[in-house]
Amino acid sequence: MNERSGGCGEPCCGKPAQGGDSIACPLCGQPGEIVHGTTVRRLLKPGIAVTRDRYLICRTPACAAVYFHPKGGVFKQEDVLVPVYFKAGAEPVYACYCAQVTKAQVVAAVAKTGATRWATVIREITGAVPKCRCEETNPLGKCCSGNAYAVAIAGSSAKPVPAVKSRDPLHGLTLETILNHMLKLHGWEGLFNRIPIRCFQYDPSIKSSLVFLRSNPWAREKLENWYVCEVPKPKKTL
Ligand SMILES: [Zn+2]
Repeated sequence: MNERSGGCGEPCCGKPAQGGDSIACPLCGQPGEIVHGTTVRRLLKPGIAVTRDRYLICRTPACAAVYFHPKGGVFKQEDVLVPVYFKAGAEPVYACYCAQVTKAQVVAAVAKTGATRWATVIREITGAVPKCRCEETNPLGKCCSGNAYAVAIAGSSAKPVPAVKSRDPLHGLTLETILNHMLKLHGWEGLFNRIPIRCFQYDPSIKSSLVFLRSNPWAREKLENWYVCEVPKPKKTL
């Protein structure tokens, strides 16, 4: 795999080194996914020390571990401020942590309106569309629309994949278009604050950023998710 292509060589530019420190959950043995320390710090109950820059999250529903670190330390659901939506027994099951909307609410709203788009459904339920705070509120530190919300939609009466896919908010948009749009909105500093990669900080340019984003899917996904959150309505295609 191409974990090393184009990155800065540090663990922030991809997955942790394989083979050395284990990325396997100490309780269930399944590989975890990286979550930034800032997300973990915000989501753990007050008084729990969070000392690492990044952790791994265990996705196994039946496993008691939520966050763990290869060098030791496991945090469980009882240490976390919000129910982790994919863990067995989560109550309530959230579909959007930013809006504090549950899966049951989404399922009901989809059944009532037939709408499936995140912004439409959330507005139907709460009367407003919240500012995206996924990195602070979603246990994965990623946009709710791509995980918790997607799970809720999958469990609803919405027609599955093809219809949703054709309404992909990124459909027809190039990475360059997205980058230019977000640059206009936030400037290089804003981009760096949200996605701390060197190409946004040192002598930034569209060209060098595109090279980095194309070879680092995790960074590209962050930018695209951010774009989807902030620019909910794509150009009408009729
Ligand atoms: Zn586990």
